[in-house]
Amino acid sequence: MKTAICAFCAQTGMLCKDCQTKLAEGEITDTDIKIAKTAVDFEKNNPNASKVSILETIERPKFILLIVSPGSIRFLTGGTLDFDKRLERALNKPIKLMEKSKNKRRVIDDIFSPALISGINTIFVPIRSAKPGHSSVEEETIVVLSPDQKEKLPGTVKELIDLVKLVAGEDIRVEFR
Ligand SMILES: [Zn+2]
Repeated sequence: MKTAICAFCAQTGMLCKDCQTKLAEGEITDTDIKIAKTAVDFEKNNPNASKVSILETIERPKFILLIVSPGSIRFLTGGTLDFDKRLERALNKPIKLMEKSKNKRRVIDDIFSPALISGINTIFVPIRSAKPGHSSVEEETIVVLSPDQKEKLPGTVKELIDLVKLVAGEDIRVEFR
């Protein structure tokens, strides 16, 4: 598995000069190192996982989100595959695995899971310009959930909005109705 630290460091559990520098400069974290070690162990019994790249790790107070290369999840979870469970044990936090995707709906579904989204609406909001005759419209994405899904959200609404922005580059609004 391709992780944030180099293969040598992931295998040996020691940090080479390059990886030490990255850690000191905050480019990688202790979490990345634990993930890399867990990935090496996992790959020993699951050789298909070598096809997977971990592209980004986003750590939040309540969970850690791993963005992996498209098509990777089937090599990591489901059936007897337990990469997510192993990570949860190693990091002591809930883990969300997500494939990098350009599909906005899918990204939003993944980020909000296990809460279920009842709909995503796109509305067009007129933007007034200071110059007369130059007003335009802007797209706004509204994610709708029923109020009973609130307690299933994996983080605060603000955190989830930030994540969608980070992963999909999209500004969203969340409504419960
Ligand atoms: Zn290294």
